[in-house]
Amino acid sequence: MSQNPKYKRVLLKASGEALMGEQGFGIDVAVADRIASDIAKVRTMGVDVGVVVGGGNIFRGVAVASKGGDRVTGDHMGMLATVINALALATSLRKLGIETEVLSAIAMPEICQSFSQRAALHHLDKGRVVIFAGGTGNPFFTTDSAAALRAAEMGAEAIFKGTQVDGIYSDDPKTNPEASRYDTLTHDEVLDKGLAVMDVAAVALARENAIPIIVFSIHEEGGFAAILNGGGRATVVTD
Ligand code: UDP
Repeated sequence: MSQNPKYKRVLLKASGEALMGEQGFGIDVAVADRIASDIAKVRTMGVDVGVVVGGGNIFRGVAVASKGGDRVTGDHMGMLATVINALALATSLRKLGIETEVLSAIAMPEICQSFSQRAALHHLDKGRVVIFAGGTGNPFFTTDSAAALRAAEMGAEAIFKGTQVDGIYSDDPKTNPEASRYDTLTHDEVLDKGLAVMDVAAVALARENAIPIIVFSIHEEGGFAAILNGGGRATVVTD
């Protein structure tokens, strides 16, 4: 295995849907275990890894708002869903012997530590995988924005955005067979073309902090490590 990974500190964003596997809802433990083993591979290469998990497999705030309910309460429910996913992924990593700490943007000291930049850097420096739970801690945001924010705070050299497909396409490749795949793009091009890979706030924050976004398939076993070793398949978004 390469002793010279491309980056020494990275942030992985995994959507909640990635954890649900073929099920329509919730967490498929076998899938969480597989994603954890991909993270473990990268960690054992000596790379510092932060992870932001989404909550869409359990709850999204818009589901409440679209039925006339209060959006802020809905978003609180969504943020709690991300904590459930973070605990599941931490459990999978610990089963593999990988030291892991969950830091939540919403204080719940009986369950996990609260997020602070200082705590995050401390755990990363100790070689622990840090899972950032609770999104940004604020309604009206997404876990993509949380990923860009935490990446900047932890000094990550790249954001690895694990998606359902192996990069950014001109259109949805699942519905449009003509869609073409990009090898590289700039942050500006992603924004100008309106490519739906991460939300606008997340891409803008990554651009402002000159953090590349590497879009790859979360379902490709070993894909995360392969890219860090200079191979793999991905679209790379840089300045
Ligand atoms: N959420 C929020 N603030 C944040 C991050 C997430 O309010 O900073 C809520 C929001 O309701 C969102 C839900 O948590 O729909 C789950 O997050 P997201 O949709 O980003 O998850 P993913 O699509 O990545 O699974």
